[in-house]
Amino acid sequence: MKYVDEFRQHHLVKKWSEALHSVTTQSWTIMEVCGGQTHTIAKYGLHAFLPAKIRLIHGPGCPVCVTPISLVDQAIQMAMQPHVIFCSFGDMMRVPGSHSNLLTAKAKGADVRIVLSPLDALKLAEENKNKQVVFFAVGFETTAPANAMCAYLAKKRGVSNFSLLVSHVLVPPALHFLLESPGNEVQGFLAAGHVCAITGYSHYHALAKRYLVPMAITGFEPLDILQGLYLCIQLLENKQCKVVNQYHRCVQENGNVAAMRIVNEVFKIVDRHWRGMGLIPSSGFGLQDAYADYDAALKFPLSAPSTLKENGCISGLVLQGKKRPCDCPLFGKSCTPENPLGAPMVSNEGACSAYYQYFLNS
Ligand code: SF4
Repeated sequence: MKYVDEFRQHHLVKKWSEALHSVTTQSWTIMEVCGGQTHTIAKYGLHAFLPAKIRLIHGPGCPVCVTPISLVDQAIQMAMQPHVIFCSFGDMMRVPGSHSNLLTAKAKGADVRIVLSPLDALKLAEENKNKQVVFFAVGFETTAPANAMCAYLAKKRGVSNFSLLVSHVLVPPALHFLLESPGNEVQGFLAAGHVCAITGYSHYHALAKRYLVPMAITGFEPLDILQGLYLCIQLLENKQCKVVNQYHRCVQENGNVAAMRIVNEVFKIVDRHWRGMGLIPSSGFGLQDAYADYDAALKFPLSAPSTLKENGCISGLVLQGKKRPCDCPLFGKSCTPENPLGAPMVSNEGACSAYYQYFLNS
């Protein structure tokens, strides 16, 4: 497949690995921001191709993992309403709330449906006028345009029984939070290419300059990761703190202007709670006032106090790169993909699931 196969070729991986070795003279700690990148590193065994002086730590870029427990609880409460069809992508179904998850709610009789697109949820609303259809709009900037388009179309078509439970989060404020946090060890970032495909990266320059951290906008194939690391290490070794773009085939400095136009029409910047990290100011999207009628949190003002008992999950530290999944005493013992105790073991982008799939038995 074009743009995929050529970024997995073994001889090129070896070539870039040698290039990386040749530019690395001292120890560096780099964070790959996105869980998709973490999975690529684990799946393809890229650690074996890195100089020993490079330490990779895993970032918070898994939207499922950072969705707060209180919001999962709220989703479950909404789903349990008799007149509600609650729609979600499949990866949220088993994410633990305080006591339960959406899959269990479904087993108890809630009308919870897995959809492949928010537009499928809108279609359900148009076909079921006697029901309220809620879509769980979770994700980083990457999924925001499709969700925004859905709210836009619902408004345009006058579909009043459709709403979004919004939990969008934004990458730059999270990087700011990590760089400000005590004990931060990150010296450079592999930034998430798919996020920058939407937003561009012009607003990353100020972050790199302020914190003196270089950033390489990086893709998701093995060669992307090695090239991104090469660019990042080269900048560090030359004492340059700027943003470079490895992911040319998808990312432009100004991003996808049409996608951002619809995002800005429908969403505004709001404070957001991140699971394991707490409240981060201006770190998410919420619906604009003009779209308040499509805000499920306003339509269903349910109280869902989180009463999660301490279960030993250290996902907050894993999401900040301060601990590795294998540092968690529950990893692979009481916490497994079949019985996940925290979101990073559920999600396809979670660091704990990556370690479980690729490292546990290797
Ligand atoms: S292994 Fe399980 S319990 Fe431990 S941090 Fe990961 S998700 Fe939480």
